[in-house]
Amino acid sequence: MIALEEYCNAFQKTVGEYLVRHRSILDTITKYQESCSRVNRAIAKSVTTCGCISVSAAKQELPASMRIEDFKASVSTHLKGELCDTCRDIVSTELGNNIFYVAAICELLGLEMHEVINSERDRLSTLGYFKMR
Ligand SMILES: [Zn+2]
Repeated sequence: MIALEEYCNAFQKTVGEYLVRHRSILDTITKYQESCSRVNRAIAKSVTTCGCISVSAAKQELPASMRIEDFKASVSTHLKGELCDTCRDIVSTELGNNIFYVAAICELLGLEMHEVINSERDRLSTLGYFKMR
């Protein structure tokens, strides 16, 4: 737990030092939104341009009698294949950029990133399967 706190604090501090051009909360939240789109675009390009992964989706039928603990094993990701090294690098870079803006929003609003993460983890632990996403 301490390691996460120290790591997040160091990361958030570094992000705060880089927040020069996008110090405005409006610039930051719109850059955050743009970074979300770039993550989605990178994944889509892995399918449509590279082809290392594909998506095959259909409605997922779940028997009413299925135990909730068995859902994860029965529900498809709709993905086939694996990211190639190039696409993995691109998606990873875009996710890193997205995390940068999460930390930036925390920094500008006076939130501690590790507290946000811990709070979400605690919420998931408390709600368990009833908080499925
Ligand atoms: Zn690829």
